[in-house]
Amino acid sequence: MELFQEFGARGHEQVTFCHKPEFGLKAIIAIHDTTLGPALGGCRMWQYDSEQEAIIDVLRLSRGMTYKAAVTGLELGGGKSVIIGDPQKDKSKEMWRAFGRFVEGLGGRYITAEDVGTSVHDMEIVRAETRHVTGISRMLGGSGDPSPVTARGVYVGIKAAAKFHQGRESLQGLKVAIQGLGHVGMHLADLLHHDGAELVVCDIHQEHVEEAVRRFSARPVGVDEIYSQNVDVFSPCALGAVVNDQTIDVLKCAIVAGAANNQLAIEKVHGPMLAERGILYAPDYVINAGGLINVFHEMKGYDEEAALDQADGIYDSLLSIFHVSKERDIPPHEASNHVAEERMQKARERRRDRLQNIYLHGAN
Ligand code: NAD
Repeated sequence: MELFQEFGARGHEQVTFCHKPEFGLKAIIAIHDTTLGPALGGCRMWQYDSEQEAIIDVLRLSRGMTYKAAVTGLELGGGKSVIIGDPQKDKSKEMWRAFGRFVEGLGGRYITAEDVGTSVHDMEIVRAETRHVTGISRMLGGSGDPSPVTARGVYVGIKAAAKFHQGRESLQGLKVAIQGLGHVGMHLADLLHHDGAELVVCDIHQEHVEEAVRRFSARPVGVDEIYSQNVDVFSPCALGAVVNDQTIDVLKCAIVAGAANNQLAIEKVHGPMLAERGILYAPDYVINAGGLINVFHEMKGYDEEAALDQADGIYDSLLSIFHVSKERDIPPHEASNHVAEERMQKARERRRDRLQNIYLHGAN
């Protein structure tokens, strides 16, 4: 693998390999872009089949964080870290502290958080070594569970999509199929039910389904039946890659808008396929940015109301992406990439002008 070629192809600024065998730590921290601010992104712990797989994952995920922060209008760049190991067996306090020292060594260019395979508790150990960590519990002054803020973003995102695609001003009577009633899905169901939406739900855990039936009069269906429901909105809130060759053909919805990451199995294939079928797709990294907004607010001194208010901005972000998509005749996921790139380009130009000014006229 030609490492510099890989970094260059995706535009990475810095990739740090962290090795402390005495503490069982093998980690990679990727800083993709810091044009808009420090690179923030979670730390994933996973038993990768090869080091190459870990490198590709951290490069892909960190780049995604740059776009997510840019399109959401946050003063943050994109980064991510991965620890190679089994999260069930290979964690230790010493390992987390060693990781924390590496994060501290980057001097705030990278800010870490929990992700797949890591927990709030792990991040609290990291915090003993560095201030550059978010996703800490409320008891310790952090922002705690991000799901209510993520759900709020998805809720306003569904409103934006229904307004743009169907001209709806209200969610009264809107039919929504929610796949997955976990932390985000259940909050989302609550918000939609409150506005008079009719819910169809599924989950692999029966007790979650029963709760939604009881609280929101939702109609339960099997996990394989959720795709073919006659609804306005299909809202994936469980797994990635659920929009794929098999499911696109059976979807009867007008809109796909949910919290799950990486909903399109293959972006370049399934994004255009949805558009060809006249189904409006709310790009996942735009509509589910509430979690990132939540940790951004933790960095400033956490205020839940302020985080929820900013998540409401996802409504306008999505509307403008849908307009760009229509004007340029490109699918929404491409339009959101353009919007993010344009914001970064403007920031780079402003920085270049500032530096030029300093060069010509001095710092004052
Ligand atoms: P969660 O684990 O709390 O909930 C997922 C739910 O989906 C669970 O109830 C699970 O039983 C159910 N499920 C699993 N497989 C299923 C299947 N095949 N069919 C139907 N249901 C199934 O996770 P969450 O925190 O609610 O996050 C949901 C999704 O949103 C994930 O993809 C996550 O990466 C993404 N996301 C979450 C946040 C957040 O703030 N929690 C932020 C951004 C993105």
